[in-house]
Amino acid sequence: MEREIDLHICGGIVLPMVEDGEWFRADLLVDQGRIVEIVRGGSTNPVAARRTLDAGEAAVLPGFVQCHVHVVQSLLRHQADGLELLPWLRAAVWPYEAALDGDGVEAAAELGIAELLCGGTTTALDFGTCRHHERVFAAAERLGIRLVSGKTHMDTGEGVPAALLEDTDRSLADAAALGDRWHGAAAGRLRYAVAPRFTLSCSEALLAGCVELARSRGWLLQSHANENVDEVAAIRAATGSSNLEYLHRVGLTGPDVVLAHGVHLEAQEVALLARSRTTICHCPGANLKLGSGIADVPGLQRAGVPVVLGADGAPCNNRLSIFHEMTLAATLHSLRHGPAAMPATRVLAMATRDGAAALRLGHEIGTLEPGKAADVTVVDLRGWSLQPDGHPAARIVHGATAGDVRHVVVGGRLVVVDRRLETADGGELRERIRSAWEATAARMRQSP
Ligand SMILES: [Zn+2]
Repeated sequence: MEREIDLHICGGIVLPMVEDGEWFRADLLVDQGRIVEIVRGGSTNPVAARRTLDAGEAAVLPGFVQCHVHVVQSLLRHQADGLELLPWLRAAVWPYEAALDGDGVEAAAELGIAELLCGGTTTALDFGTCRHHERVFAAAERLGIRLVSGKTHMDTGEGVPAALLEDTDRSLADAAALGDRWHGAAAGRLRYAVAPRFTLSCSEALLAGCVELARSRGWLLQSHANENVDEVAAIRAATGSSNLEYLHRVGLTGPDVVLAHGVHLEAQEVALLARSRTTICHCPGANLKLGSGIADVPGLQRAGVPVVLGADGAPCNNRLSIFHEMTLAATLHSLRHGPAAMPATRVLAMATRDGAAALRLGHEIGTLEPGKAADVTVVDLRGWSLQPDGHPAARIVHGATAGDVRHVVVGGRLVVVDRRLETADGGELRERIRSAWEATAARMRQSP
């Protein structure tokens, strides 16, 4: 190669995650933010590159895509254990979100994003709180993650603190202004997704307004649905129909909609999801911790429902590791469907290619192919639980953890090198996180 390129990822086992599922030794050449060449067998000629990342004894994958996280909840990690969904929201999460100021939102977002990036997640679909959401985008812009995110909407509901109860029109106007400011920012790395929280905290007018706003701008829609039995029963009592029938009636289904959970679904609801091509984001870690139940992922996939993965929030998991979610997704469904139900290659596709498709970013990310954005995760294969050999997908899904991630590249930018976050000072960030949590906790103690 005559011209010097930006980055040479050298000597790894490459899993491109294209449909054929093959893997091979190769070098990855990156220039101007994009993959320019995948050199099978490794480059024989010396490569002139400004930076070289060693991927020897490592797997080179498309950056992981999580389709449901709440980075803004990260300060509440380990503070909301032992509760079911509705008490967890009313007694812990909502009072916490009500107490967050702008600095708290930004510190929480930085913590969540740092954890995601260092764990190999390069893209996330993220749910904000009601206020200060511009601070989430500011943190994402600085730290380098690819984030599809939106402020949440709540204008009704039992137990919602006054500080989070919004005027319906004001709430929609805030989202419109945020999306107009941030959708497409940072060279397209940041995108807006309209985020009505869930049926119980949104009036029908608010849900319909969210749908109208998103479709008028071409933004994605995200919400929570059918996570918990009490939630599903309360929705039936309030609306007279199943949650999915209700959401479908207000327009909150379709190929531009990602619904987190889908644990408790009636047969007609599954058919409706499949017919409308609505994506379900499976969050097994959160569903287990809150005791919500186990989504029937093999059943959903057989019915034709797109299913992707996400860690949800730090207070209900308590980590934001795609590896934890992949291991659970690959093992949990053996209970009902037998141990062959979720092969490692299928689970790995859910965490990469399928996630990208759900976010309508499949043309940009989700696989390693020349021309695509250089979102790359390099996973060290030297850990003891990864020995001796085997299919790399099985090693990653069943054996690896977030701690095995060695390098992470987003849009050609080196955000993690040799396990170190390059885009923030770790010591300063820890201090900001600690003081933001102390200030937030003090405000929570003061509130009625
Ligand atoms: Zn959630």
